[in-house]
Amino acid sequence: TSHLPDILLPWVSARPDAHALLTPPGDGRTVLTWARLLGEAAAARDRFTGAGLQPGDRVILIAPSCPEFVAEFFGAQAAGLVVVAVNPLSTTREIDYLLEDSGARLIVAHPSRSEAGRASAEAVGVAFRLIDPVRSDGPEIRPDAHGDIDFAVAGRSRDDLAALLYTSGTTGRPKGAMLTVGNLLSTVDIVGEIIEVGPDDHWATGLPLFHVFGLVTVTLSSLRAGVPVTLFPRWDPRAFVDALTTDHVTVVSGVPTMWMSVLAEAADSGAPTLRAVSSGGAAISADVLRRFEERYQAPVVEGYGLTETSAVGTFNPLHGVRKVGSVGHAVPRMEVKVVDLDGNPAAPDEPGEVCLRGPAIMRGYWNRPEATAEVLGEDGWFRTGDIGRLDEDGYLFIVDRMKDLIIHGGYNVYPREVEEVLYEIPGVREAAVVGTPDERYGQQVTAVIARSAGSQLDAAEVERVTREKLAAYKIPRIIEFIDELPKGPSGKILKRALFGAPNGS
Ligand code: ATP
Repeated sequence: TSHLPDILLPWVSARPDAHALLTPPGDGRTVLTWARLLGEAAAARDRFTGAGLQPGDRVILIAPSCPEFVAEFFGAQAAGLVVVAVNPLSTTREIDYLLEDSGARLIVAHPSRSEAGRASAEAVGVAFRLIDPVRSDGPEIRPDAHGDIDFAVAGRSRDDLAALLYTSGTTGRPKGAMLTVGNLLSTVDIVGEIIEVGPDDHWATGLPLFHVFGLVTVTLSSLRAGVPVTLFPRWDPRAFVDALTTDHVTVVSGVPTMWMSVLAEAADSGAPTLRAVSSGGAAISADVLRRFEERYQAPVVEGYGLTETSAVGTFNPLHGVRKVGSVGHAVPRMEVKVVDLDGNPAAPDEPGEVCLRGPAIMRGYWNRPEATAEVLGEDGWFRTGDIGRLDEDGYLFIVDRMKDLIIHGGYNVYPREVEEVLYEIPGVREAAVVGTPDERYGQQVTAVIARSAGSQLDAAEVERVTREKLAAYKIPRIIEFIDELPKGPSGKILKRALFGAPNGS
């Protein structure tokens, strides 16, 4: 396979009328079969070529997680385009920047999220199109009597770009991570192996599709394996849990804040068919992991990766040794190492910068040779900007992000360690620890907490527990309660949006 649309063809041949993509259960739900997904992708391809776009051109795609997104994505790939997937909550100003940076020639936007994109396109003078809604009874492409499928694609190789996914990385304005066709194809095969995806699976996710986790490690991986996926355009823990039973879901993927909201808000119903929970994007606390596994009787497979690594890096295996608190060992065909300040491999259990190498690593940042050179060496190793340590068995423990480290009176405080303790306190629903400026200590350890419904938890109690469990310099001296912690595009807690967080991420 050397082209992304190829991943659909075996399933269009083998089971054209089986389900491929579904919107959440309920009245008026859209269900696309394999034959109809390919039919919609062909229609999207024709709209792109009809608009005069040439292979290698960039197109901005703005849509919530829905079948239309997937059809446009495959249509763009079939036309040889590079998809710039954009958060549908982006403002005109943000889209202006992405248009200019990527040099996109067209914006396609879902009708529910079209204003900002339309305004940008008009201001900058590039073409704009609303995404056509897909229908459960739309166009189909079926295998002919010989089993052949008539689906034309622009010639592409594995080295060609498939997507530019913007990430802020460690510094500066968002940079476009150049992900090639080969990067994405390698990733979907890796994911298929580690989640052991088979024909009887059904995947569900509330992750956004403009982010590499939802797009590549869930949706493309599921389609690659011939497995249907239910996509949630909005995160709704109750609807999500109900769908687990309705759709006989076997695999779910999400970020830890999603599992926390399921535990806090969804009814205590089981999920009889669930067999694996893939969690990533941010550290899952040991307590949340244990409670989720207990309630749903399925192992949580925690993975670690970045946009720049097509979302794969390490994982805690489904079978075999899983270490709580660790993000596991390298996925197949990828390598992981931890290096000290001089770039030499750190001793076992010694913290240093985590580096990854292998077929999922991006080609570089779009139009940013210097930023690329800072993270990607000649030898293919990518520097993640995360601090971690590898144990004797090659299991990686993420200590924290380099940019989130708090330095309090000369002592290093890793926010994650403090957050782990906060999550053990009854009444803490979500917590984040950041450094705030302090005249005497440089930075002060500051905790921001969202309480569980009905909880009376106060600062004195938080102080009492943290004092008992943490060295004095790690104890949060400023404790704030808020209703809801700000979340980034993929649902992760957004530290940089917390008050005064100078080095938040
Ligand atoms: P943005 O682009 O908005 O700045 P981001 O920096 O979070 O987002 P992503 O590529 O989405 O960029 O996320 C990668 C980062 O997420 C990693 O560098 C790491 O810090 C964190 N991460 C991912 N998975 C895990 C995990 N399982 N445990 C701890 N941290 C994780």
